[in-house]
Amino acid sequence: MRYRLVCFDVDGTLIDNIEYSWELFHNYFETDKKRRIWARDKYYKGEFSYLDWANHDIGMWIEKGATKGEFIKAMKTIKLMKGALETLKELKKHNLKLAIISGSLNIILEHFIPNYEDFFDDVFLSWLYFDKNNKLVRAESTEFDMIKKAEALRKIAKREGFKLEECVHIGDHHNDVEIAKIAGLSIAFDAKDDELRKVADVIIDKKDLREVLLYIIPQGNLTHSLKLNKE
Ligand SMILES: [Mg+2]
Repeated sequence: MRYRLVCFDVDGTLIDNIEYSWELFHNYFETDKKRRIWARDKYYKGEFSYLDWANHDIGMWIEKGATKGEFIKAMKTIKLMKGALETLKELKKHNLKLAIISGSLNIILEHFIPNYEDFFDDVFLSWLYFDKNNKLVRAESTEFDMIKKAEALRKIAKREGFKLEECVHIGDHHNDVEIAKIAGLSIAFDAKDDELRKVADVIIDKKDLREVLLYIIPQGNLTHSLKLNKE
């Protein structure tokens, strides 16, 4: 087998109908747009680290008294990507290591893939913590979003003794550009970003995650029911 590790983005890749989870929750909690833009601009100007930005924004949810139940309600508009579970099962069946490298939030992954630990060997995500009344009290943000997604891939590859050429990345947006550049196979899946489309090795616009299997697992080895036709 050519590949040994497959890294997944969450928002817009494993989860459908979403571009960025942070935006989904900001809109749900109706946080102050001006403050959000102020913090985002500070990050892009290099005055805020990613963690500063994340902590700033999570602080706005805490101020709103956000509860776990409200986060769950906000997720009513999103769903698991078509073919996601079949894809994860098939990749595991072929003994590939799987990783999540995402700036998304654990509450989304846990809601849609409660048994995610059965699939993923590494999970880079931001984590929300609730008190006994289910109120959001704090968060531990990942620093491995945006350009640092590539760093997370390098870390895993080094630890496992994999070459970057043996690693696959699947993502959909601008924060996947740098990791797509270094992965041996980068798949832009339902991509919403032109730069990602430019740097990716493969572009898949059909919203069915099983399509990625055609590029990762040699055709003859695919489980029969998963054989799909290349478009
Ligand atoms: Mg995404």
